[in-house]
This record gives sequence, C-alpha cells and structure tokens, in this order.
Amino acid sequence: MIISEKIEHAVRVQSNKNGARSFYLYDTTSMRNKITYLKSVMPQEVDVFYAMKANPHPAFLSAAQEAGVIGIEIASLGEGESALKAGFEANRLIFTGPGKSPEELCWSVENSIRTIHIESLTEVYRLNEICKKSHKVQDILVRVNANFDIHGAQATFSGGSRKLGIDEEKLSEYMPIILGLDFIRFRGLHVYAASGVLKVEDLLMNCKLVFHLARNIEETFNGAACDIIDFGGGFGVDYLESREDFSPDRYADGLRHLITEYGFHDRRFVLELGRYLAADSGWYCTEILDIKESRGIKQVVTAGGTNHFRRPAALSINHPVVIIPMKQSPLFSSQENVYKEKVYIGGPLCNSADKLANDIFIDEAHVGDIAVFCLAGAYGLSMSHMEFLSHARPDEIVIFPEKDGVEYAYPHLCG
Ligand SMILES: *Cc1c(COP(=O)(O)O)cnc(C)c1O
Repeated sequence: MIISEKIEHAVRVQSNKNGARSFYLYDTTSMRNKITYLKSVMPQEVDVFYAMKANPHPAFLSAAQEAGVIGIEIASLGEGESALKAGFEANRLIFTGPGKSPEELCWSVENSIRTIHIESLTEVYRLNEICKKSHKVQDILVRVNANFDIHGAQATFSGGSRKLGIDEEKLSEYMPIILGLDFIRFRGLHVYAASGVLKVEDLLMNCKLVFHLARNIEETFNGAACDIIDFGGGFGVDYLESREDFSPDRYADGLRHLITEYGFHDRRFVLELGRYLAADSGWYCTEILDIKESRGIKQVVTAGGTNHFRRPAALSINHPVVIIPMKQSPLFSSQENVYKEKVYIGGPLCNSADKLANDIFIDEAHVGDIAVFCLAGAYGLSMSHMEFLSHARPDEIVIFPEKDGVEYAYPHLCG
C-alpha cells in the first residue's frame, strides 16, 4: 500500500514534535467522497447512515454530517449524546444493539429518535412500559437473527445461537405480541447478516432473503407492514490487499433489480455503514524504538501496541504497513535494522499478545523510523484497551480537508 505525499508530510511534521511517538492521523476526505458517491449510485429508496462505533471521533461525525448521510446509527447513550452534539437531530438517530438499559430507552423516547431496533421480547416490553409513562408511541424495527448465513465474511451476526436479534423461528409467536403493544409502532425489519463482506453477491443474497422474509411477515400478520428494511452494515474493506474491493455500484445495481422484482418501490431501505466509510480515513503511526534479532527473526518494537491499535491482534490479520524513514543515526555500529525480510511488529506491553503485525514483509526499517498502519480509521483507538499498562493515549490528529496544515484534533467527546 502507498500513502499520499500529504499524509507522509503530516506524519513527519507530527513525529518531529517533541514526544509525539504514537498518534492517529485522520483525513476524512475519502469518507466524504464515499458518502457522496454512494448517494449518487444507490437506488433512491436507500438511506445511508453512519454506524458511529467504527469511529466516534467528532471529525468523522462532521464528515458524515457535511457529506449528507441521513443519520447516525448509535448503540449506546454515549454515542447518542455525541451524535446530538455533532449537530444531528434526534429524529436522525437509529438505536441498535443488545442490552439497551432502561435509561437508554428513556433517553431515546424522550428525544423522539427515529427508530429503536428491538433485540428481544424483554426489550420491547420494557420499551412499551417506558413509552406508556411518557405518553408517547415509538417507531421500532424488529431485529431478526435470520436462519441464513453469509460465507467469507470477517464476522457474522446472524445464524446460530446469538444475543443479537430475535430468532427467525420465534417470529410467528412474537410478532402478534409486538403488534399488540399499544405504545409501539412496528415499522419493519433489521437483518444485519455479516461484517466485512467483499463479495457483492453475498450481501445481495442477504437482501433477497430479507425481502422474502418481509413479504412472508406481511402475508402472515395483519398490520405488519415492513415500510423500512434495514440491512445493517457489512461493506468490506480489502485489508489484505487482495484487490478484491467491494463494488458499491454493482451492489446498487443488484439492489435496484431486487426492489423492482419484489415491487418494493414504496419502502425505505437503510444501510448503516461503518468500516467501509471510515477505514481508509485513518492511519495509526508509531515510532520504532527497537529492532532486535531473536532466534532468526527480527522483532520490531514500537512505542504503541495493542493498547492503541488492538484490531490486528483481535482479528489476527496484518494491516498494510508503510515505514516512513526518519534517518536517525544509530546508537552503536552494529544496531540491527530490517532489510527485505519478514518480521514481527509489537508494542511496549509486557505480554506476547501485544502484536501489531505477524510475519509481515518489510522492505526497510531502522530504529527511529515511523511505522504507519493503514486502513486504521475504523475500529482503531476506540476498540483498543487504552488503560492497560498505563501508557499515554495517542493523540488524534485531524488534517482538515480545507486546509493543508496539520492541527490538533478537538478533544475526544467520548474520552
Ligand atoms: C457495527 C454495526 C454496524 C457497522 O458495521 P460495519 O461492518 O462497520 O459496516 C452497523 N449496524 C450495526 C447494528 C452494527 O452493530
């Protein structure tokens, strides 16, 4: 993977600042372009939301807002408050996720958010009680743990025993109950099958199965109109550089055909995208503090590890790495460096699970250089265990698209 001159320049400027040994660099230009592009190719029935757990930093929320997403998919009260602070109106928020607390449900009802996506029978009863006390009726989608499965995804969210959603087989029993609750308005289905899908056909197969399910439900239960169908997230990112990038235009074409085939032109379809929008707008940068040879393999030790960037270890994958040479003079004549070989990269934590890359080919690296981990804009800092070993948290530096200078980010809202 290559990085642009602009990003390389920003990395150099930032690392020359005293003590800035690890940091995230964000440039949301790509995220903005992707949103604009999706809005232009998707069928007009599709509403694109940003799933903010991918990156809750205010720069990403602003990018989503300015590029014109319909709203934000939240999965906690904290995310909801950040989205409001970023300027999204409450009726632009949709709330998903298991184990929503009474406080979170109250907050959602009081603010009249757009839809709450119900994950269980307990949750829908709890919500109905809260709505009754507030004299309000809340729009909901029912999240279904479908009986189908997507192949080749990084993570699947339906099929098998799950805490997410209501098992498809239980709908025949639960739907009449849900439809009978006085303060709940059923608006449709949410079926998020899998994350990190690169094959358009796999996601389209999910869409087709969901359409089928929606039609079945409408035919079986009186008053169960599925006006809204939410496919969740799932557009993949090519972390392994297999050049198999997800093709949104082919997805859009396929979906357009399905909408016509089922005559679903009068519905709204929701995409809640996280990774696809955010991943290539962030880089995790960390200084190489040590390189040593251990039993035939070089161990590259960086200033930050899984405490800053847990994703490669959590998913057992290597992100693309670029080394920015900083031309530091060696401390002693036989100091090790890396030259066209496979190495391990790990941080300063005292456990061997602290790996940033396993067995990865590096052209050249020296102590003092900066290792840049690409595609780190999604599920980066907020998914890491920052407190472990009490190292300093990395700065989050935002390069504003309209200016080319490097500036400190605004304080992190969820910090
Ligand atoms: C995490 C999540 C998303 C975003 O998934 P991506 O794979 O990042 O696109 C969307 N919807 C729900 C309910 C989620 O939990």
